[in-house]
Amino acid sequence: MKKETICIQSGWKPKNGEARVLPIYQSTTFKYESSEQMGRLFDLEESGYFYTRLQNPTNDFVAQKICELEGGVAAMLTSSGQAANHYAVFNICEAGDHVVMSSTVYGGSFNLITCTMKKMGIECTVVDPDAPAQELEKAFRDNTKCVFAETIANPALVVLDIEKFAKLAHTHQVPLIVDNTFATPINCNPFMWGADIVTHSTTKYMDGHAMAVGGCIVDSGNFDWAAYPEKFPGLCTPDESYHGIVYTEKFGKAAYITKATSQLMRDLGSIQSPQNAFLLNVGLETLPLRMERHCYNAQKCAEFLQSHEKVAWVNYPGLPGNKYYELAKKYMPNGTCGVISFGLKGGREAAAKMMDRLEMAAIVTHVADARTSVLHPASHTHRQMNDEQLKEAGVAPDLIRLSVGIEHIDDIIADLSQSLA
Ligand SMILES: *Cc1c(COP(=O)(O)O)cnc(C)c1O
Repeated sequence: MKKETICIQSGWKPKNGEARVLPIYQSTTFKYESSEQMGRLFDLEESGYFYTRLQNPTNDFVAQKICELEGGVAAMLTSSGQAANHYAVFNICEAGDHVVMSSTVYGGSFNLITCTMKKMGIECTVVDPDAPAQELEKAFRDNTKCVFAETIANPALVVLDIEKFAKLAHTHQVPLIVDNTFATPINCNPFMWGADIVTHSTTKYMDGHAMAVGGCIVDSGNFDWAAYPEKFPGLCTPDESYHGIVYTEKFGKAAYITKATSQLMRDLGSIQSPQNAFLLNVGLETLPLRMERHCYNAQKCAEFLQSHEKVAWVNYPGLPGNKYYELAKKYMPNGTCGVISFGLKGGREAAAKMMDRLEMAAIVTHVADARTSVLHPASHTHRQMNDEQLKEAGVAPDLIRLSVGIEHIDDIIADLSQSLA
């Protein structure tokens, strides 16, 4: 099926007489006739639901849909994008291990991996995603267990050369984990270019209505963990917390997601509520339509801003001459995302003034939903950073992040135009 059809028809497939629309299994627990059968579930000898912290049918139907959209073999929902990225890395890294990460990833992921996971004993080397392969090689160590990057960085809008990163990761016998939040599976499938694991903050375009925080992890099934048992003991040696099962032996291509569910979700518990999964599913149904409109509107806004006399610079990968124009054409031929960044000739001060004068577009922290919104990272999300640190993160002090919604383009441009005036 094409993606438009998957978005509507995949996941929940009702049998005769069942609800047409995905039901919310608003239940913490599931009933069994025999004690023995329940025991087999706890031993992972049989698959079935027993407690929503581990698995819930509503969540699984939605995860299945995202899995198909990405072309993966297994997927799981998490309570947030942060939880998805944490689990995706922590599932294969433990104290003493090392991660190679792109410098331009989302601020939340940057803090998670360089600060919080450091406290868990996991080291990280931050690399410039545009550096040549020979330069990036130097970041790898014997204890490196994965490479982490974003398809289109939030908010720097750096487009990742996925093939370059996949090749590097595989040369060093580790998987490439790509956060595909901004592109969504509609505009890019990182697995096609060699990525092994994909994560999402479903809070953004997938939900699309700013209703529910959520995340997702999808496994391509392509990385051969069993070929490197010393590197990935968690997947390739007996798990004492499950009577010594070996995930790669017992679950084959589903080993990675099964371990993340039965071990990390069991012990850390960042589940998505079935209610939120239901809302996410509603969002997914219209994702292809919305992405098309987001990209169309963003392109028009970028062109409008670029030709405006008060605008100093515009960053949008869809603009010819943009540093990432060619990479975007290769990896996202149908469009990138609805987020643009730009700066005014009046700098930081003018940015705040212009934002205050917008009448329709709202100042919010959120990005990537149906409503046009703006944010000034230097005074909001990145407030704790000085100008030097902002530059390293790819965030100019005068940068305005514009998340272009799906309203009529004429109204969005009219609002930008009057506030600039
Ligand atoms: C928002 C975001 C996250 C974090 O997701 P939450 O759902 O807010 O926890 C991770 N990665 C990217 C690229 C994001 O935009």
